[in-house]
Amino acid sequence: MADLLNELFCPLELTGIAASITAALGVDAPQQAEPALEIMQKFTQDKNIDRVLMYNPDAVGLWLFGKHTDYFTPVMLNTQLTLPLKTVMPSVTPVCFATMYTGAVPDVHGIKAYRKPVVKTDSVFDALIRAGKKPCIVSTGEDSMSKIFLEREMDYFIVGTPDEANAKAVELIKEDKYDLICVYNGNYDSVMHKVGPEGEEAMQALKHNSAAFEMLANAVKENWKNHTTLIGYAPDHGCHEVDGGSGSHGLDMAEDMNIIHFYGVI
Ligand SMILES: [Zn+2]
Repeated sequence: MADLLNELFCPLELTGIAASITAALGVDAPQQAEPALEIMQKFTQDKNIDRVLMYNPDAVGLWLFGKHTDYFTPVMLNTQLTLPLKTVMPSVTPVCFATMYTGAVPDVHGIKAYRKPVVKTDSVFDALIRAGKKPCIVSTGEDSMSKIFLEREMDYFIVGTPDEANAKAVELIKEDKYDLICVYNGNYDSVMHKVGPEGEEAMQALKHNSAAFEMLANAVKENWKNHTTLIGYAPDHGCHEVDGGSGSHGLDMAEDMNIIHFYGVI
């Protein structure tokens, strides 16, 4: 039975993303990161990547991509690599983003429930700072990405709404000053909890996320012509519908655990 259940989950894991990002930039991995994903290494090697733009939409599960592929068209057309991944338990925002950017499982990075302490475990941000590079985070309000990687010698741009975050990110891309920009958008997650993963407003948010990613990719193309940039569409966990038509996540089930990332080099 356990084997049957395991077959429900993607074989590649979110723990490999942190080292994949640092490897792409030619920087040592975060100290406790799991190894980079082989496919990411093959995708990024010999491309002289010197910039990374990570777009982090919240709660976009693999099943949404399978069922509503057309909503992802702008993402697919701006990337070359489609990467289904298994996230970590519990499948909630601070736990999963801590894993995405440390490469460590929750037992190692220490966030094992819906709490937002500053992660002390070595992260992609620390690894880049050690290598003399400049990372920054663009996020909203009290959200996880606004909090769990604080206390580093780096810049944080915490604004009010996802649209403001995306506008800020475009501004930062134009400034041409950061080697890694992480942009967090929590709009799909917050709407999905209320109206369900496929509610009309949620689907609009999903579409809005794809448009935001395309806008950021275009800003990179226009303003970082002298760089080679790895761009990523990289959610933290998935979601599922619950009784009454609202949405949730956090469980050890395929809808919550299987996510979809996309990467491009431009
Ligand atoms: Zn989340």
